[in-house]
Amino acid sequence: MSGIDRRRFIVLSGLAGLGAWMRSASVLAVETDAQALSPRNLLRSPRFAQTPFTLGVASGDPAPDGVVLWTRLATEPLEFGGGMPAQPIVVNWELADDEAFGRVLRRGSALAHPELGHSVHVELEGLAPGRPYWYRFNVAGYATVIARTCTLPGEDADLERVRFAVAGCQQYEEGYYTAWRRIAEEPLDFVFHYGDYIYEGAANTSPHRKVNGQPFVNLRNHVGPQIYTLDDYRRRYAQYKTDADLQAAHAAMPWFVTFDDHEVDNNWAAGEDQDGTPSAVFLLRRAQAFQAYYENMPLRRSAFPRNGHLQLYRRARLGRLMDLHLLDTRQYRSKQVDMRNREEVQSPARSITGAAQERWLFDGLADATPRWQVVAHQVSLGNYAREKGDAVVTSDDQWSGYLASRRRLLEHIQQVGFKNVVTVCGDAHRHYAGDLVQDNADSGVISSEFLATSISSGADGLGIDAEARSTLAHSPYLKATTDRRGYVVCSVDRDSCIGDMKILDRVMVPDGKLESFARFAIEHGNPGLQQA
Ligand code: FE
Ligand code: CA
Repeated sequence: MSGIDRRRFIVLSGLAGLGAWMRSASVLAVETDAQALSPRNLLRSPRFAQTPFTLGVASGDPAPDGVVLWTRLATEPLEFGGGMPAQPIVVNWELADDEAFGRVLRRGSALAHPELGHSVHVELEGLAPGRPYWYRFNVAGYATVIARTCTLPGEDADLERVRFAVAGCQQYEEGYYTAWRRIAEEPLDFVFHYGDYIYEGAANTSPHRKVNGQPFVNLRNHVGPQIYTLDDYRRRYAQYKTDADLQAAHAAMPWFVTFDDHEVDNNWAAGEDQDGTPSAVFLLRRAQAFQAYYENMPLRRSAFPRNGHLQLYRRARLGRLMDLHLLDTRQYRSKQVDMRNREEVQSPARSITGAAQERWLFDGLADATPRWQVVAHQVSLGNYAREKGDAVVTSDDQWSGYLASRRRLLEHIQQVGFKNVVTVCGDAHRHYAGDLVQDNADSGVISSEFLATSISSGADGLGIDAEARSTLAHSPYLKATTDRRGYVVCSVDRDSCIGDMKILDRVMVPDGKLESFARFAIEHGNPGLQQA
C-alpha cells in the first residue's frame, strides 16, 4: 500500500513563485508526488493507436470533503491485458467548477498499474460539501468525456431532500441497459448498486435456451467460458463497461457500490461455492474476483483487497437527513441450508451478516442523529413465499434462509424505536414493495423494504405473472410485485420516504418505454407502506 498511501496533496497557493502560473492556469491546487509517479518500470511516453478510455469513467463513495474518481485503460477491452503494455502509465486528471470546464480547480496525475489492470483510483480530499464537480482524465493525447460528480452535504447540514436510485442485476446477454440511460437522465444525488454488476457464466447459446419459459436467443454474448482467473474477471468487467448506457450512468453521478453473488460465483457464501469446491481452492478464485471488483469500481483505499478480504460494509451520512448503511451479506454469511430443515433455517448459530457486521449495523441504527436510517443491502428481507409444485417455498439465499439474523435485526429496529428505518435491496429480478414484520407476524409492521428489479436480468419479463400472483397470495405484507426490468427511485425528505418503482416495457429492443409501476410512501415515525 505504501505506493498508494504516499500520494500527497500539495496546495500550490502555499508555494512561493507558483502564483502566476496558478492564476494563468486557473489551477488552485494540484496533487502530485514526483517519486511515486516515476517508478523504474514506468512507460515514459505512451502511444496508443486508439483511445485507451474504452471503459468510461466513474465516481463513488462521496463524502462531504471528497469523492473517488475512477477510470481504467484498455485499448482492446475484450483481450486479456486490454491491449495495454505491461508497464505502469501516468494518467492525468482534472477537476473543474463547471460543466464547460472553464475553471479547473485541481489537476493531478496518478499511476495506472498493470498489477491493478491499469485502473486508476483518485481519492480526492479537501473539496467543498454538497456541490457538484466535473472531472475528466487524459493520457497520450486522449481524453475521457467530462463527467459529473458531487460531494455529500456537511454532516450537520439540514437537507431538504435526498434522491437516489436503487439498481443492479445487469446480465449483459439479457437486455439493453436502457434503465441505466434513464437513471443517467434523472436528477439524482447518487446510485446505490446492490450487486450482480457482472455475471460469471459462459454465453448460453443453446438452441434450447429458455427465459421466462419462452425460447430465448441472447441479445449479446458473454466473451469466453465461465470466469475463474483475474484476467477472466477483468475481461468480463471490460465487456460490460463498454456499454454506452452504463457509462452514461456512471458519468452522471457518484455511486455507492456493493457486490452480491455473481461478481464471484452464483450463490457463494463466505468461503464456499455451490459446487463443492474445497474452500481453500474457492478462496483463490474469490480473491481474484475481489481484486477485479476493486479494480473496476470507484472504491476508496479502505476497500483495497488484502489477503483475500475486501472491506465493503460501510456508512455514509447525508446531513442530518439520513444515514446510509451499506451491507455485505456474502462475505461473512453461513452456508445456505435445505429450507425443509426448519431447525437449521432458524438456528441462531447461522448468520447472513456475520457477528462483527451485525454489531456494527446495530450500533449505527441506534444513532438518533439522522432523521432516516436506510439499510442498503443485497437480498430480500421481505420473506416472500410462493407455491412451487406442491410446496410453499421461501428462498434459501435471502434473509428468509437466515431467520435468526432476520429476527435479531427486526427486533433491534423495534427496540431502538425510532420508526425510521427503510431497507433497499435487489437480487430477485422482480420489483417487490413490502412491509417487514417478524416471521410469526406478532410484531406489527417494523419497517418497509423496496426491492428493486433488475436492469436487464430476466429479459423483457412477464409483468404480473403466475409467480407474482402466487407470491402476493402467500405473502400478506407484500404490497406490489412485477416481473419487469427497471429500478427504484427513493426520494427522502423530513416527513416521508417515497419509493417510485419504475419499469420498462421491453429491454430486448432499444429505448423501451419507461413508466412508474407503483409508488409507495413511508411516513416518518409511522412504519408501513402507503400508496402514493
Ligand atoms: Fe441478479
Ligand atoms: Ca444475486
